[in-house]
Parts: sequence; structure tokens; C-alpha cells
Amino acid sequence: MQIPGSIIILGGGTAGWMAANSLLHAWGDRCQITLIESDAIPTVGVGEGSTPYLKHYFKQLGICEAEWMPACDATYKAGISFEGWSEVPGYERYFHPFFSQLDLKPAEAFFYHANLRRRGHDISANPDDYFVAASMVRLGLAPVSTKPLPFEVDYGYHFDAGKLASFLAAKAKAQGLRHLIDTVAEVTVDKQGNLASLLTSRHGALSADFFIDCSGFSGRLIQQALGQTLHSYQEQLFNNAAVAMPTSTPEQINSQTRSIALSNGWMWQIPLTSRQGNGYVYSRDFISADQAETELRQALGVDDNANIEARHLTMKIGRLTQHWYCNCLAVGLSQGFIEPLEATALMLIQFTLERFIQAYPQVQNNPSIQQSYNQQMCDTFDGVRDYIVAHYQLNTRSDSDYWLACRDNPSRPQILTHLLEAWEQGADFDRALNHYEMVYQKPSWYCIFAGMGRFPKRLNLTPEALQQQPLVSQAKHWCERAAQEYFTKHSGQLRQLYGKLS
Ligand SMILES: Cc1cc2nc3c(=O)[nH]c(=O)nc-3n(C[C@H](O)[C@H](O)[C@H](O)COP(=O)(O)OP(=O)(O)OC[C@H]3O[C@@H](n4cnc5c(N)ncnc54)[C@H](O)[C@@H]3O)c2cc1C
Repeated sequence: MQIPGSIIILGGGTAGWMAANSLLHAWGDRCQITLIESDAIPTVGVGEGSTPYLKHYFKQLGICEAEWMPACDATYKAGISFEGWSEVPGYERYFHPFFSQLDLKPAEAFFYHANLRRRGHDISANPDDYFVAASMVRLGLAPVSTKPLPFEVDYGYHFDAGKLASFLAAKAKAQGLRHLIDTVAEVTVDKQGNLASLLTSRHGALSADFFIDCSGFSGRLIQQALGQTLHSYQEQLFNNAAVAMPTSTPEQINSQTRSIALSNGWMWQIPLTSRQGNGYVYSRDFISADQAETELRQALGVDDNANIEARHLTMKIGRLTQHWYCNCLAVGLSQGFIEPLEATALMLIQFTLERFIQAYPQVQNNPSIQQSYNQQMCDTFDGVRDYIVAHYQLNTRSDSDYWLACRDNPSRPQILTHLLEAWEQGADFDRALNHYEMVYQKPSWYCIFAGMGRFPKRLNLTPEALQQQPLVSQAKHWCERAAQEYFTKHSGQLRQLYGKLS
């Protein structure tokens, strides 16, 4: 099996340190790994919510929750609450849950009722009533099962991004990683177009067989030195900036991220044990940075004079076409960014690394592997993009030019046009979904279409609807019972976990 003899990772943000640990785990005994990070160029410093995929990352590295979560002020996440994205009565908020096998039964009722509702039958089809994770959050529970279940319950996390990077850095350094604090000023490329060396201020020229570019939005290696450009998503996704501002931890730490629509974008609220992370993701084409900060402060009830500093960020939205190009792999913001609405960036980092570790040893015998790898990365980014775009296209707000422009945006991924047509014309929605290979699966698509209240305005209280009506409360009751039976209080779960280390 061929692997590189030496690797340089450029960047010490979450991507760089996740890459370091994955590569050490896979090849550390046969490959010399160096990580360079600059003390003059800060990390992006945000990125505090995950999907359930992160659970597998730690599992693979053999790191348990009792070790990493307290070190990163982490809490559990059962899903995302979308609030104010729709003005349709009964659908002003909905929960996008992480699903488990416990949901199979009530989810069937949900699909059935959503299909009745979109054909004009008067029946409630808000996902909040049909998923165990939604009940769990309402009841203040953590998604960690207290009883043995014959399947794994998927959940994500909230964490402090800076502390996560430090935790992973300590792990990597303990395994012998060479860590250099330095800034790469110049990069040389050889005649074949491969990266040859990185010229640093303090350590001179550094070379390796392979390079991992984790330099953030600058894409110092893949973009600046190797000339790869981003395929922009900006026509479909208008948000290009964010302002972040922490507040103190709320009294009750819920196992959910809140995504609250504001006038020209949306606000995240992420509860950690040490503070609450908040931020406004918006479009500078519709609102200025100052206006966004003022609106965020108002939404949080934070006085202008309060000593809470706001951090302004610019986001480059899009992805590379060649994530692996010559002897360089881009990981993290250097390879692209969609936007943080479903907190998918770390999942994409993990996926990029896992597939690369599988693909690289085969590329000498089969060079086409690199091409299919790149295609798979692009398809995955585009698949996530399609689902994110759906939030904007399906919104039913009419209070600003921004929301109208998002809804009326003609630059819509083809899959979304197809799904919208099928949904609104009362066609077989499952069939439309099955037509595509998608990153997000059936429950997520039903949740977003139904949760946004994209239903006909005229309703009939038909015999079918009347007959099904009791099943809505039965489904909700079933979910609440399951939540209470299998899961424990989030606060108690955290106390137990954090107590284990002290
Ligand atoms: C507003 C916002 C919210 C987000 N929310 C989420 C979320 O909830 N969930 C999620 O999964 N993701 C989220 N993300 C994305 C997430 O923050 C990033 O994917 C993650 O932090 C990885 O960043 P990175 O390591 O690629 O880049 P960075 O954190 O920017 O790190 C870049 C590193 O490269 C180094 N560097 C750069 N140039 C040089 C040089 N010339 N020489 C030496 N070193 C150099 C820097 O010093 C730094 O260490 C969010 C992003 C934004 C913008």
C-alpha cells in the first residue's frame, strides 16, 4: 500500500487539527506529519454545531464523550429549531430532528398526513408532532439513551470551536506530530505543477511529499499557489457575511440549535456550558454590517453599551472542482463553504478526509480514482447546497426584499424545481425523491416542505382528515412517551458527564 512518506498540513483551525488526527490514526506509523499554523493569521473561530457524523469521528479515534466534551464546553444536539421562516399559521416554527429508528412509526403518520395536507385536507402536518427528538427538546431531555436499545440513536453536539481545536492539537502532539508556529510567505511549485516547498518566516523552506491545505478561506496552497478557483454558489445563496456575539449561558441548556429568521438572514443560538454562541448570517447586498450588528444586539437584548464585542466575518460561498489537485488536498474552508444553516462544514471535513485516506493508496494503480474522488466531493457539496437552498426558496415571509428575493430567485437547483413541482401539484412526492441520489433523505425533505407550511391555502375538512385527526395527537403522545422512557434530562446528563472528570 502506497502512502506519502511525509505530509505537511497548513493551518491550525478545526480542519487542520481534524486532518492531523485522522492522518495520524490512519498512517501515523509510516508517515511523518507536520502541521504549520500562523500566529499572525487567526482561525475563523466559529463553527460550534455539528451533525451526528461527528460522533463517528471521535469513535474512530477512540476518544470518549467524557474526555472531549467537558474539555470543549460541549452539549448535546438533537436537531435544529427553525423559527420565523414561515408566516403560515401553525407553521411559524418547526424542528428538523436527527432521526432514529424510534421515529419509524410516527414518521409514517407524518408522511401520510403531510401528503393529505398538501392535497387540501385539513390536518396538522407540522413535523414537531411526529418526531421523538422534537419531544425530547420540548421536555428538556438529552438524546442519550438511558436504556439499552438495539440500535444507535443519532445525535450531534455543540462545542467551543477554539477549545475543540486545542483539544485535538494536544491529542495530535501527544502522538508525535511536528507542530510549527510560522507563517508561509511564499510557495514554490515544480515543473510538473506539484507543490515543492513552503517558504516560512522562521523555519525556512519546508517540503513534503504531500500537502493538506487547511488555510481557511484564503486557500493559500490550492487556490493561491495552484490556481484552483471556487465554483460559486452565490447566485443561489445570497448570504455572504456573519456577525457573531456570545452571551451568557441560558438557565436551561436545551439540546437544540435555534435558527431564527431575522430581516435579512437568520440568527443562530448555540448553547454551551460556558456561554451561548450567537450570530447573524446575512447578505451584505441587502443590509450593512452595522445594521446587522444592531439587529443582532436587539434580537439578543444586548445593549450597545454592554461590553460584548461583535466579530464580523466575510464568507466565501462555493466549492472547488478539484479538491485533490496534484500533490495537494484542500480540507475545510479552503475547499469551500456552503453556509452554516445546517452545521454541515465539519461533516464535510470528515468526509473529505475519510474518503481521501481510502482513495490515496489506490491512486498509483488506478489514477482515475482521483477524478472520481473529486466528483464525489463536488456531488456531496452540491447535495448539501440543494437542501440549504430549499430553506430560502420555501420561506413564506414577505416582510423584506431579501426574503422575497430568496423565494423568487430563479437560480434554483434542478432537483429543487422538480421537488417543488411534485409537492405543489400533488404528485407522488416519494417518487420524485427516489429519482435522485441525495445527501439529505426523505424525512428531511418532508420536514422542510411541511415545516415551512408549503400547503394550499384552501382547506377541506374531509372524511379522510376527520378520520386521521386523532392520530396526530396519538403520534405526539407516542413520541413524548418514547422520549420520557428512553432519555434523561439534558442538565443531569451533562452534570454526570462533566462530573466524571472532576
Ligand atoms: C459564520 C460561520 C458559522 C459557522 N458555523 C458552523 C457550524 O455551526 N458548524 C460547522 O460544522 N461549521 C461551521 N462553520 C464552518 C467552520 O467554522 C469551519 O469549517 C471550520 O472552523 C474549519 O475552518 P478551517 O480550519 O478550514 O479554517 P480556519 O479556522 O480559518 O483556519 C485557518 C488556519 O490556517 C492558518 N493559515 C492561513 N494562512 C496561513 C499561512 N500563510 N501560513 C501559516 N498558516 C496559515 C491560520 O493561522 C489558521 O490556523 C461556520 C463558519 C462560519 C463562517
